[in-house]
Amino acid sequence: MKRIGFIGLGIMGKPMSQNLLKAGYQLTVYNRSRPAVDSLVQAGAKAASSPKEVAQDSDVVITIVTDTPDVEQVILGKNGVLEGARKGLVVIDMSTISPKVTRRVSAELGKVGAAMLDAPVSGGDKGAREATLTIMVGGPEDVFNDCLPILQAMGKTVTRMGDSGAGQLTKLANQILVVGNMIGVCECLVFAKKAGLDQKKVIESLSAGAASSWSLINLGPRAVDGDYAPGFKVKLLQKDLKLVLASANELGVALPGSGMGHQLYNALEAAGRGEDGTQALITIFEELAGLR
Ligand code: NAP
Repeated sequence: MKRIGFIGLGIMGKPMSQNLLKAGYQLTVYNRSRPAVDSLVQAGAKAASSPKEVAQDSDVVITIVTDTPDVEQVILGKNGVLEGARKGLVVIDMSTISPKVTRRVSAELGKVGAAMLDAPVSGGDKGAREATLTIMVGGPEDVFNDCLPILQAMGKTVTRMGDSGAGQLTKLANQILVVGNMIGVCECLVFAKKAGLDQKKVIESLSAGAASSWSLINLGPRAVDGDYAPGFKVKLLQKDLKLVLASANELGVALPGSGMGHQLYNALEAAGRGEDGTQALITIFEELAGLR
């Protein structure tokens, strides 16, 4: 079995790495802050003091950190993965980041004979815990086939989308649906409340119909209960929407819905809710409806 290194033990990375341990993989972990490392060590993982050390100890290194500069830092930076890389090492970046930078990082790793897959995920904290993530992969086909069992220990639907960067581009396409869905869910639930309907019953009823969505089923109840704990943080969706709109500009595609979603989330951030889950968007629609 391949030795796996795991960098980034946040909301997503911690349960994903726990699922790799459960699947029987030998795991070396690194996280910038310590508490998450301790709980993984208790579960059987080995702690490393830097991404470089993780790479030296592993056949496959998985990264899932916040943003594009963070991936550059943990892979290309001082004491980063590249410094510990060698021919045959595989790096799987599961963060959501710039497709362009992904291709550059992949090329840098290629110079020492290491390979890279971009494998961003969808399915939220729930999918990470339950190992049911959707994983969209870019990179060489032989490396993908070799790493498939590892990805299947964390996800249910694992698809190779094309060469380096194709996984990230697919994830950006996913985020177009995410923001559109969330706006729909919020408008629906605020309308229901104003109309005197039981919002939970509305969710229950519509979840079985043609307008159902993951957001309605999983985030609708949290929004109705005023439970804004993340899940997926507003500031991370905003990071993704910036990537979506930048790619749309490069491609010459008009995305008015995503642009509007980005602006509505700007309002939510301005209200101090950047660390909340994306379902907190309902508060903006409640304001607009005079419900606050
Ligand atoms: P999170 O809870 O904020 O965790 C981020 C992790 O990255 C933390 O462990 C953090 O370390 C680490 N990190 C960030 N910058 C770093 C740096 N420069 N050097 C070293 N470590 C660094 O975020 P998350 O929700 O797990 O999301 C991680 C990635 O998955 C993001 O790209 C996000 O867009 C994507 N994603 C998230 C979801 C979701 O539902 N949450 C769904 C799909 C995709 P510290 O503990 O020290 O802060």
